[in-house]
Amino acid sequence: MKHKTIEIFLFIDALGWKIVNDHSFMQELLPHRRKMMMQFGYSSSAIPTILSGKTPADHGHLGLFRFAPERSPFKTVSALSWLFKPEFFWNRGRVRHHLSKILKKIYGFTGYFQLYRMPLWKLKFVDYCEKQDLFIAKGMTPWKNLHDTLSEMKIPFHISDWHLSDDENYLAAEKAISDGKKFLFVYTASLDGLLHDKVGIFSAVQEKLETIKQRIEHLYSVAAEYAEHVHFTVFSDHGMTPLSGTVDIMSKIGESGLIFGRDYGACFDSTMARFYYLTPESKSVIADLMKPFPGHFLSVEEEKKYGIYRDDRIFGDGIFLLDAGIQIVPSDMGGSPLNGMHGFVPEDEHSYAAILANIPVPEKIGRVSDYFNLMTERAAEL
Ligand SMILES: [Zn+2]
Repeated sequence: MKHKTIEIFLFIDALGWKIVNDHSFMQELLPHRRKMMMQFGYSSSAIPTILSGKTPADHGHLGLFRFAPERSPFKTVSALSWLFKPEFFWNRGRVRHHLSKILKKIYGFTGYFQLYRMPLWKLKFVDYCEKQDLFIAKGMTPWKNLHDTLSEMKIPFHISDWHLSDDENYLAAEKAISDGKKFLFVYTASLDGLLHDKVGIFSAVQEKLETIKQRIEHLYSVAAEYAEHVHFTVFSDHGMTPLSGTVDIMSKIGESGLIFGRDYGACFDSTMARFYYLTPESKSVIADLMKPFPGHFLSVEEEKKYGIYRDDRIFGDGIFLLDAGIQIVPSDMGGSPLNGMHGFVPEDEHSYAAILANIPVPEKIGRVSDYFNLMTERAAEL
């Protein structure tokens, strides 16, 4: 027997509104479309937002790292950092990748964990936000995530395993449909990886989008065998902004005479520097040092508008956001620039996320933090 309706929500990391339009992506199958305000931050803030409907102001995930010496789980690693010499060896990408894997196992983290370029000596000053797998049951306690909510509704559902490749996730979704599931949240992340490298190469992006289109059409056709109606919605978390320049903020602050951990703390993400003022003077010294850089400190109003304002200032006392296209190099995330990056001001034309569907999307859905309500409302109608 066929279901009346199958709801499929396909998340495509970095499928920005601009790319959707530049490539007229899936106009025929998914004609109901519009731009969405991205969740300020990175995938580390967007994913928990999509899975819970909460913003970073509530769920506490902005950058992967935050300055919090009293809460750092990494004190032993920093204490042993003298063992990890020479430094250049441990800074190689593949070595850090393996070290990340080892630490993840030692600490029992189930979420996405990467050290990126965070210096080992600095680890004792920082906490990491994604210690838990956000996708699974109770993955975002005290908040209910999508898994918890759908379980309560007793709807046969499938949520992708984010550890798997996109191809594996499309196949798992097709199998879930044949197993009787009628609500699907399918996670795919490979477009993001491609765009970080090839955002400016039209043919490469077109080829990738063509592959995605074929996978979508196949998934759709499988669902159509099992339901009278297939509601298919594609959504993304942000776009991709081409590189327009780099700035070396770390050196400037490092040469200032301020001592990290005594006078100030900082997290250097790819597109923003988040400062923690530990002395009254450090705020004004850092404000002066940052003046020449192309960007600005977010106002309280901006932080509130972007859903990242918190009284406890765990994201930083001052958040300096670079102008769109300018990357911090080096940062805690990497030692060289990428051709494309996200995490700039949400109102930049390259930043907007997108929603594309084969049925109308309610007007009230306007930002990434609205996807959760859209999904749970649709689930309630099944
Ligand atoms: Zn990315």
